[in-house]
Amino acid sequence: MSFKKEIERRRTFGIISHPDAGKTTLTEKLLLFGGAIQEAGAVKSNKIKKGATSDFMEIERQRGISVATSVLAFEYNGTKINILDTPGHKDFAEDTFRTLTAVDSVIVVIDVAKGVEEQTEKLVEVCRMRNIPMIVFINKLDREGKDAFDLLDEIEQKLGLKVVPMSFPIGMGYDFKGIYNLWEKNVNLFSGDSRKHIEETIEISDLASEELDELVGETSANTLREEIELVEGIYPSFNKDTYLKGELQPVFFGSALNNFGVRELLDCFVEIAPRPRPKQSEERLVKPDENKFTGFVFKIHANMDPNHRDRLAFVKIVSGEFKRNTPYLHVRNGKKLKFSSPNAFFAEKKEIVDISYPGDIVGLHDTGNFKIGDTLTEGEDIHYKGIPSFSPEHFRYINNADPLKSKQLYKGIDQLMDEGVAQLFTLELNGRKVIGTVGALQYEVIQYRLEHEYGAKCSYENLAVHKACWVDPDDPKNDEYKEFLRVKQRYLAKDKQGQLVFLADSPFSLQMTQQKYPSIKFHFTSEFD
Ligand code: GDP
Repeated sequence: MSFKKEIERRRTFGIISHPDAGKTTLTEKLLLFGGAIQEAGAVKSNKIKKGATSDFMEIERQRGISVATSVLAFEYNGTKINILDTPGHKDFAEDTFRTLTAVDSVIVVIDVAKGVEEQTEKLVEVCRMRNIPMIVFINKLDREGKDAFDLLDEIEQKLGLKVVPMSFPIGMGYDFKGIYNLWEKNVNLFSGDSRKHIEETIEISDLASEELDELVGETSANTLREEIELVEGIYPSFNKDTYLKGELQPVFFGSALNNFGVRELLDCFVEIAPRPRPKQSEERLVKPDENKFTGFVFKIHANMDPNHRDRLAFVKIVSGEFKRNTPYLHVRNGKKLKFSSPNAFFAEKKEIVDISYPGDIVGLHDTGNFKIGDTLTEGEDIHYKGIPSFSPEHFRYINNADPLKSKQLYKGIDQLMDEGVAQLFTLELNGRKVIGTVGALQYEVIQYRLEHEYGAKCSYENLAVHKACWVDPDDPKNDEYKEFLRVKQRYLAKDKQGQLVFLADSPFSLQMTQQKYPSIKFHFTSEFD
């Protein structure tokens, strides 16, 4: 197959949702269509159980699963589909944000009864900021839920999306009869049989036909006719270009658990979802069909076996072909590196591959060379943008609890930060180290891993910080900035890249500081223009 065809047939995406909406179930059913797995239950949930936060086994289990499900790839009707795992738990939100830099589109799963939930809002906002094309799947139609129109309204209001229903439910919950597919103009009747892999659909080219009454009963048929008329009156018609720009979001209804409405979703996805897209680097826009390989690291995973300290760096291929045993330039440190056993992912297996294409993810064994955001090329000086750090939510001092092991401690902290487990800030005043995380669970992960992988012990001390703000003065030489540096010295720190950060202790003090120093901008993310 030609290089161009290989690119065209790839679809790399992530499924995002609030925990419990049905992401794992949907992933599993999608894999069934690819014949990639034989049975349900094969995709491991990466969920953290409630109340398990102090259970180290749970942390280890979580890490193991997150390697296994990092990338799930399968073939469907000649399309190569790469699903990137996005943890739903809020303590791992940062991991998900980073993974979203490596997807070309997303599917958003929403629970029909719960509607738009907190994590969905946050994740969709990140996708919206980046204009990532999104398809919405409303799940659990076999249960009583919200009215379809109310839910579509809620999605538009809370998520700021512009929706266009591609399918519409006929009844719901106990009364759920099936789905009318506006895209294919057919009806799929619900039987509640989850073993059914292939759905039988019935063509209904004209909704007025009596056949519909025979299929779903006169009342349901009439309701559907009215509802579809309403849908066609309220919502715009689907437009692929607008969807690809991230300005229009097609919506499907179904029940992942019953494998219902999933084929419709997948068929439409394969047809409309973007193939690997060009990516902006600091230097220029890089197109997938360029001959020379480029790619970037979006995730690093430590080996679970403490005797083998190597890590797996996940690289998204942006352009060209990635070949085994070929020297590539690690742009940040200027070294040429060769990889003898790059891993590709297929369903839940990893295997060594000789060649990978744009859109694919390769897992590279790494002994400590990589950081998140690193770029690999054939020699060109390219830096990919778009993996910012977000302000953490929690802050604690980290102290060395075993003075004989300080070297191990600092090495461990350094490597865990490169993996993106948390962020390190060093106070300007006294050099004390502060760890910032998105969720409290990370502190336990760090403590446990420092001890088991690096032989170092740490303790924490609370620190009242509201937000870390990256400092961006209009003029670093003006008196206002000099005064700010002097007056706020106690609250200033450097992040791992050496950027200056203001640790605001409360929303109020942040507001006061902003008012007092109007020529300084304070950003909640580390990347700004
Ligand atoms: P995740 O946290 O988003 O990955 O959610 P899961 O896929 O683990 O699903 C959460 C729960 O919802 C599980 O108990 C599933 O069996 C259930 N579930 C998923 N899809 C459906 C569905 O279509 N109908 C019903 N009734 N339950 C579902």
